[in-house]
Amino acid sequence: MGRPASVPQAEALALRLAFEKLPHGLCVFDGDDRLLLVNPRYAHIWGLPAALTRPGTPFADIMQATRGQETEASRGQPKPAPGSTGTRRREWQMEDGRSIEITVTHRADGSCVALHQDVTEQRHAQARIAHLAWHDALTGLPNRSRLRDELEALLGRTARGEVLALLLLDLDRFKPVNDTLGHAAGDALLRQVALRLRGCVRETDIVARIGGDEFAIVQWGATQPAAASTLARRVIEALAAPHVVAGHTVHVGVSVGVAIAPFDGQDPEVLQRHADLALFRAKADGRGTLRFFEPGMDAEARHRHDMEADLRRALERGEFELFYQPQVELRDQQVCGLEALLRWNHPRLGRIAPDAFMTLAEETGLIVPIGRWVLMQACRQACTWPADWRVAVNVSAVQFRQGALLRDVTHALLASGLPPQRLEVEVTEASLLVDPDLALDALGALRSQGVRVAMDDFGSGRSSLRLLRRFSFDRLKLDRSFVNDLGRDGAALALIRTVASMGQSLGISTTAEGVETAAQMAAVMQEGCIVGQGWHFSRPLTASAVQDFVQALHPKNT
Ligand code: C2E
Ligand code: CA
Ligand code: CA
Repeated sequence: MGRPASVPQAEALALRLAFEKLPHGLCVFDGDDRLLLVNPRYAHIWGLPAALTRPGTPFADIMQATRGQETEASRGQPKPAPGSTGTRRREWQMEDGRSIEITVTHRADGSCVALHQDVTEQRHAQARIAHLAWHDALTGLPNRSRLRDELEALLGRTARGEVLALLLLDLDRFKPVNDTLGHAAGDALLRQVALRLRGCVRETDIVARIGGDEFAIVQWGATQPAAASTLARRVIEALAAPHVVAGHTVHVGVSVGVAIAPFDGQDPEVLQRHADLALFRAKADGRGTLRFFEPGMDAEARHRHDMEADLRRALERGEFELFYQPQVELRDQQVCGLEALLRWNHPRLGRIAPDAFMTLAEETGLIVPIGRWVLMQACRQACTWPADWRVAVNVSAVQFRQGALLRDVTHALLASGLPPQRLEVEVTEASLLVDPDLALDALGALRSQGVRVAMDDFGSGRSSLRLLRRFSFDRLKLDRSFVNDLGRDGAALALIRTVASMGQSLGISTTAEGVETAAQMAAVMQEGCIVGQGWHFSRPLTASAVQDFVQALHPKNT
């Protein structure tokens, strides 16, 4: 008989324990807002003296003793209608920094039960996460998402006549620092840059880091464009001063593009795109410069965009064509090879020379499939020529990446059946300097297959000699500018002589490019060049013109 009686007893014990040991504060108020019941944790959370925890204490008295305030968000919630039931979550911010969350359950008789919980830790963690989501961890500056939100909010004000400037900043020469001194040094540099930028702006301006070495400043409440111009100059000057990272003195600079709202755009996307176009122009016009957005830049970007779309389709539409320019043995005036030169037969714009689309092809990576087509086409064509004529093919730096060049050359040789010795690849010094190890490895592999390697535009850069020590080229092609300067400039003649004799002693054949006159031909021959190429011998020819030439030379061949 003792058993049924023990259940309520046990229940009561459990309830009392739960009530006393509960990590939450618990209280019950009656319909007149007087305290009915309260647990010790409640008094602790609110720091209430014993006098205020007695049954019958009015709610208002407790409120008065509380050192804190209900948060704004919590105050904004609607109160339940008298006599209705429901649960409300409220939150208090205490003067000592704690956050208290209260879950109040209202009952129909007007009484209520409330659970009180100290959520300080959770709120701190949430704030940290929010900070991480809105800030760049490296510099502590607002990040791209935050910038967008701030811009959105500030652009709302431009409707009321305020003007705002968005400055986009891109560091010059940051990559070499990162590559040569390591990422830790790169990070340290970015932190210093962030500090200097902060030092350039007013309290109200926003400085954000929006990408690797890209920053942005939002300037508002100033007279534009004068203020943005002054600020940009201050920033350029501040960043031009040398930085010391990892014990090294490094020089970076910054290019700045500016767009001003509401004139250059009223929403964040448009404004950023326009500032970006201005930045693009600033970089193109030489580093360390400032450019404001101009409407023409949009048209230019659209043109570029259209060209890119056209270029993507050009291969499948068969719009590329190779021209071939003869290379002539100066000694006996015999053709020894032809250089393949790419042309784009654009459906609207007509025939386009490579200088007009090569940069775009390289930037978009399209040069890889295009270069593959060039190799294939050139090798096939060369198979129809006399066996002692070589074909020279120009290659770009981008083609060295991911082993594309080696793969494509090997495939072109195999598929066409051209002996490797009849193919010569022409690389420029500039393309070798992008990633010398990668490039020289690829060229070494080609050379070991028997393919010849020529250095194009030799002498146009500064590292040509250093590269000669690292790789044994088969040919040096003297930059066209030397031949061009021949009549005007004694130094040009001396340089041609030096290069030709250096070539001779290294066993490297030299080709003079851009030979336009008989006098130029005589001069380069005199100075020791072995091969000549240029309009004096022949302009670049279509494939069928080369065939006609071959026919004329060897009438027996069909
Ligand atoms: P490059 O390799 O230096 O080619 C020689 C350029 O000089 C050609 O211009 C040629 O038409 C031009 N030229 C030849 N003889 C004379 C002359 O006597 N006087 C003058 N003033 N110019 C002469 P093109 O065909 O417009 O090619 C320009 C550049 O485009 C080439 O310079 C080469 O770097 C690049 N290129 C051409 N085809 C290809 C290709 O298939 N792939 C890659 N990656 N680049 C190519
Ligand atoms: Ca060339
Ligand atoms: Ca050249």
